[in-house]
Order: sequence, then structure tokens, then C-alpha cells
Amino acid sequence: MLTEASAAASITERTAALIDEVVRPNAAAMARGEGIRPDALVRAAGERGLAGLLLPTRYGGAGATHVEFAAFVEAVARVCASSAVILDVHLSVGSEPLLLFGSESQLQRHLPRIASGEATAAFALTEPGSGSDAAALSSHADADDEGYRLTGTKAFITNCGAAGVYLVTARTGPGVRGVSAFIVDAESPGVQCGEPLHKMGLAGSWTGELVLDGVRVRTEDRLGREGMGFRVAMAALDSGRVGISAQAVGLAQGCLDDIVRASRAGERGTDDALLADLEARTSAARLLTAHAARLADLHEPMTTAASIAKLYASDTCVAAAIAAVDLCAPDSVRDDHPAAIRLRDAKASQIYEGTNQVQRMVIARALLRA
Ligand SMILES: Cc1cc2nc3c(=O)[nH]c(=O)nc-3n(C[C@H](O)[C@H](O)[C@H](O)COP(=O)(O)OP(=O)(O)OC[C@H]3O[C@@H](n4cnc5c(N)ncnc54)[C@H](O)[C@@H]3O)c2cc1C
Repeated sequence: MLTEASAAASITERTAALIDEVVRPNAAAMARGEGIRPDALVRAAGERGLAGLLLPTRYGGAGATHVEFAAFVEAVARVCASSAVILDVHLSVGSEPLLLFGSESQLQRHLPRIASGEATAAFALTEPGSGSDAAALSSHADADDEGYRLTGTKAFITNCGAAGVYLVTARTGPGVRGVSAFIVDAESPGVQCGEPLHKMGLAGSWTGELVLDGVRVRTEDRLGREGMGFRVAMAALDSGRVGISAQAVGLAQGCLDDIVRASRAGERGTDDALLADLEARTSAARLLTAHAARLADLHEPMTTAASIAKLYASDTCVAAAIAAVDLCAPDSVRDDHPAAIRLRDAKASQIYEGTNQVQRMVIARALLRA
């Protein structure tokens, strides 16, 4: 529930309040996999009017632009990458497809509880046997008189076990045109979540397996027309990559913060050329992210721009994290050193929402098509 003080503040002020009051105090514990639960973090964002950043105000959202959304994710990731990915998935791939493809009654039913932070959102596309080739998914939605029954297993799902609503893709027929998208309530009988995985990084963000065991879904809970699910997923990932890029920029900036802090404190010498290169790369990544975000705001084609931003920003944050560990050594080999935490957190940004190998394919194919 939005508090009175938050309602009067700007998005930047509310973001600073969320970071100071919730994200920063929990950051070290999040890195150990112990901090605030993902749904509690989303509720805390909701209390500050930030859980529906991209959603229209008529549904309780903040009506912010993608440029503002990217600035928000970057600011959170600069302090805690686990918190950033939880919020990014909730704000972006977990809820934006509803806005883009939902019917008015679906919007009225789901967006207010997502925007208030009452329900955390998740996006379930990946399966044990289909990741990069998302169209190869095998979960199936079998139609009957009352709607559909969903059966299958989704893998590596962020916010799994904490979400109130899952956007799920499942097969209603063969091929790419045989994929449909569904809105699944976490409380539905047959929805089961595995324990969060023990990951090398992002330990505070829950990533797990979502098992759908004959889950009953009404026809009115299908998102878009039957067979439109792949389009829904690809649209979600286009704008989702803006969020992942912003997360990577925040991580890279956090690494720069670590290096500068250690150098200023006279703890370590530094490598000026390396530092300057990292600053230039981080600034470029921020601009690429803002460019893709602006295209999303203008409803312009953005697939290539989002892939370029995601590729460049995530490669930059991994390079920055390696440099931070080097330049803050030997302290940085400690498990709980911020540079060590960022190095473990950074790697996943090259993998999720489409690996960087796949982003390179997308960019090259666009060039060759033109
Ligand atoms: C922390 C984390 C959170 C995640 N959260 C979510 C989520 O919320 N929702 C969701 O649906 N998914 C989520 N994912 C899954 C993620 O999007 C997939 O891991 C990713 O798309 C890659 O798919 P895959 O793991 O099946 O790898 P694969 O597709 O099996 O690829 C394995 C390797 O082969 C390479 N490869 C594959 N095909 C090609 C090709 N044609 N050319 C060159 N190289 C190729 C890949 O780049 C990769 O290096 C998450 C993953 C992680 C790690």
C-alpha cells in the first residue's frame, strides 16, 4: 500500500528511499542468500509506489517511462544485484506482457495487485529442455470444456516460490504457432515450486523449478489469442533486456565505486588506464541501455537495440567485476568483499533473458537481413 509520504515524492526520491531503507541494509545478507524475501522486497517497493513502475496510473502503477525504469534498476543494482533482478523481473517480464496483451478484465484483475506489491510477478518460459530455443518447449495446455489443463516443468524461474502470479507459456499445438501464454495464480491446485537453487551469485534472488501438474486455467486466463504465446514471450524479452542491461550497468558502476573507494582511501594503488576504460565502457553501456529504453517508450522496433545493450552492458559488468577484484586484491578474495559478490552476481547477466551468444546471433542476423 502506497504511503502518503511516498505519494508526494518523485520516482527518484522514492527509489533513494527504497535503497536506503530496504535494499542497502539487506544487501550483505542477500549475497549470503539470507536477506529479505523477494515478495517482501516487492511489497516494500509497493509501499513506495514503485512496484508498478511501468504500469498506468489507472491500475495503480506509476506510469513511468522505460528510461525511468532503467534508471531505477541501475540504482538498485549498484547496491544489490539480487534485489535488482527480483524487482526487474516483477516490473518487466513478469507484468509488462499483461499490459501489452491483456484484455481489459485481465488488466483490472491483475495489475492493481501487482502494482501495489501485493502479488509478485514471475515469467516462466525456460524448461529443462528448452532455453535458447524457446519454441522447443514441451509444457502443454490441453483444452477441455472449462478451459485448459497445464502440465509441464519450467526451469530457472526467478521469483519462483515467492510470486503470486506466473506468466506461463505452454503448447496448445505444434510449432512456434502452437505456443500460448497463460496467467497462472500461484495458489491454483497443481502449482508446485522447488526449493531455490544454490547459485554462484544472486543468492538473494530465488530461482527455481515451477512444476505444473494438471493446473486448471480458465479460457479467460489465456494471455492473447491461442497460438500467440511465442509473440508474447519475445515482446516480453525485448523490453526485459532493457532491465537486464540496466542491472548490468548498475553492477559495473558498483565495481567502479569499489575501485575508486579503495584507491581514494589509499588502500591500494590503481591502474589509471584500466579505470578510465571501465568508466568509458560503463558510460557507453548506460547510453545503449537508455537508447533501447527510449525506443520502447516510443513503441519503435527495439529488438536489435535491446540485444546490443544487453550484450555490451553484461560483458562490461563482467569485465568491471574482474577488474574490481584485481584492483581491490588481496582483500577482494574474501567471500563477503563487495567486489567478490559483484563478480559472482555479474556472470548471470551474460546468460539470462537470452545468452550473449544468442544476442550476437540476433544482431548479426539483423545486419544480414538489412
Ligand atoms: C539466474 C537465472 C535466472 C533466470 N530467470 C529466468 C526466468 O525468470 N524465466 C525464464 O523463463 N528463464 C529464466 N532463466 C533462464 C535463462 O533465460 C536461460 O538460462 C537462457 O535463456 C539460456 O537457456 P539455457 O539455459 O537452456 O541454455 P541453452 O539454450 O541450453 O544454451 C547452452 C549454451 O549453448 C549456447 N547456445 C545455444 N544455442 C546456440 C546457438 N544457436 N548458437 C550458439 N550458441 C548457442 C548458449 O549460448 C549457452 O552458452 C534464468 C536463468 C538464470 C541463470
